[in-house]
Amino acid sequence: MKEGEKSDMLKDRPRLFDLDDLEQKPTTGNGFYGKDILSVKQFDPDSLAYIFDVAEEMREMVRRVGGADLLKGHVLTCLFYEPSTRTSSSFIAAMARLGGGIIPITQGVQFSSVSKGESLPDTIRTLEQYSDVIVLRHPDEGSAKMAADYAAIPVMNAGDGTGEHPTQALLDLFTIQDELDRIDGLHIAMVGDLRFGRTVHSLTRLLAQYNVKLSFVSPEILRLPLVIMNDVRDAGLDVRETHSVADIIETADVLYVTRVQKERFSELSQYDAVKDYYTITPELMERAQDNMVVMHPLPRVGEIAYSVDGDPRAAYFRQVQNGMYIRMALLAAVLGKA
Ligand code: ASP
Repeated sequence: MKEGEKSDMLKDRPRLFDLDDLEQKPTTGNGFYGKDILSVKQFDPDSLAYIFDVAEEMREMVRRVGGADLLKGHVLTCLFYEPSTRTSSSFIAAMARLGGGIIPITQGVQFSSVSKGESLPDTIRTLEQYSDVIVLRHPDEGSAKMAADYAAIPVMNAGDGTGEHPTQALLDLFTIQDELDRIDGLHIAMVGDLRFGRTVHSLTRLLAQYNVKLSFVSPEILRLPLVIMNDVRDAGLDVRETHSVADIIETADVLYVTRVQKERFSELSQYDAVKDYYTITPELMERAQDNMVVMHPLPRVGEIAYSVDGDPRAAYFRQVQNGMYIRMALLAAVLGKA
């Protein structure tokens, strides 16, 4: 056979795909298609309402039929440099329920080339060759932004150190609306580690866009960072700070409880001094409103007694489930399918 000529076998090979038939135009009108999700600052009440509406549709779909093929042919990489239970598994479940595939690097990056010294940019540039979206958790603030600068595909911030955890904040706000049917007018109390808790940072920034009253309850050394406090004050919100849950328990509509973030302390003695500062107990719950909602991003390590779990106001496991619907909505949106 002469050079450049095709063999009969090659000439007769039938095409496997009718690509014109398979190709679909992405939905672009909502502004999320192809975008990174790095911070709650990207969201406003309109775009939140849009994502929440899609999440509600996802919930109905999962409850009735379990899953659908909306993201068939798409691949998600979950790249986690820090431990995770809910965020990683809910993203994996979200992708699975929408018919997509997953590269799970969630059981410790020690099994990837990161342990050979590969840099974050090289790891990202490699994984984007196989995937359509990357979800990243990393101990350094700003790491998700850095990854997004290198990646041509969307990057979602699943927690960057003490920085932000935007997808958690979306599911938290969705849960508040779902449980109480509104956001405006509520008194929301954040309790625990407001200094290092990235979920508090993100949720507070989102809530600053609504007409809510915020109480920040923490020991002195775990107060909310000043920059965030200033943002909330500048937004004109009614804000108070206190050390005592007793000060707010009777009027709070939402008690958002958080874990003291042991891994962020440089001195263990400082952690030990504040680790058992608060415990939400059934006795404390007796003083709360009948329709107050208790939330927690989890894991809990003693801040909410197990004996509170049977209280209908304990919403933290419903909150966990909402995480999957919100992440289904976000994945569909950035991949141009919602
Ligand atoms: N799971 C949440 C986070 O990753 C809260 C926590 O770890 O306490 O930030």
